[in-house]
Amino acid sequence: MRRALSACLALCLVLGSCAAQKREGTFFAMDTVMDLTVYGDEDILTDTEALIRDLEQRLSVTRPDSEIYALNETGKAALSEDTEALLRRALEICALTDGALDITVYPVVRAWGFTTGAYRVPGAEELAALLEKVDYTKISGLTLPEGVLVDLGAVAKGYAADRAAALWRERGVESGLMNLGGNVYALGTKPGGDPWRVGLRDPFSDATLAALEVTDSAVVTSGGYERYFEEDGVRWHHIIDPAAGTPARSGLASVTVVGAEGTLCDGLSTAFFVMGLDRASALWRTLEGVEAVFVTEEREIFITEGLEGHFQPMNDYKNAEIKVIRRG
Ligand code: ADP
Ligand code: MG
Repeated sequence: MRRALSACLALCLVLGSCAAQKREGTFFAMDTVMDLTVYGDEDILTDTEALIRDLEQRLSVTRPDSEIYALNETGKAALSEDTEALLRRALEICALTDGALDITVYPVVRAWGFTTGAYRVPGAEELAALLEKVDYTKISGLTLPEGVLVDLGAVAKGYAADRAAALWRERGVESGLMNLGGNVYALGTKPGGDPWRVGLRDPFSDATLAALEVTDSAVVTSGGYERYFEEDGVRWHHIIDPAAGTPARSGLASVTVVGAEGTLCDGLSTAFFVMGLDRASALWRTLEGVEAVFVTEEREIFITEGLEGHFQPMNDYKNAEIKVIRRG
């Protein structure tokens, strides 16, 4: 036994293959809990955490030392490659979703207290005044017109997942799963070659709604249950309809988007939630390489056709009818 072990150790030293051990870590960043499980070298967890903290430091809308804060203060700021790349990609997704995602909705989000925790229901006049400055099409180049403010909160975790997955690939990782507060990225397969199984949360309880089998995919969920406050018996959540300035009431309880790019999936999950089932399905039909799960306020479940056979309802939903949205 001892000899076998030391032989193995020697082999590991030669091949460097011991490096790809299972490593697990949890930390708090970007206002959420992040969980990593990765088969990689001994520095992979600390390096991934450092990468995400560095992105947070540059992208945060509330930290006075961030690049986005500087951009909002002055209308034009020196941006690092990451911040510029994400800002450009976010603007593309705003256009793709016809403004259901609108990164200039920040003054409205702030008035509701979602970035500060000072929750309140703004009056109609206040909202109307704030909405005059909400329009991503007013941004030309990367300069903000007077009064226009941006917030990358709806896409930052998806981008962080893309960057972390790229880091893992550079470091030879073939198997890993990260959950950045509802932004999951599954790299490769499980060590045995089976697909990763990602649990989707039931928006009406803490239970799991379904398991989704994926490889090399982002799985991003947006839901009204994630962040909200109650006033006068009404639940006000953090996903704002930029056309109205109020929390989106589109009939959806949660939306999950699956695809290769975390940034796009994150942006689309927020936008689909704002658009509601019909508009979101119509947009989905024009896209390639993206799939979605919609859970309505009536507890109906819709999946897009690419997920058929990879979606297993669980618990309360075991016998639920799963409706499939098709392209044609
Ligand atoms: P979470 O951050 O909870 O995962 P989302 O990815 O859906 O959720 O992003 C919601 C955040 O994005 C909000 O907290 C707010 O800062 C911002 N936001 C809310 N509504 C919109 C919108 N329609 N377009 C762009 N950003 C939004
Ligand atoms: Mg999002």
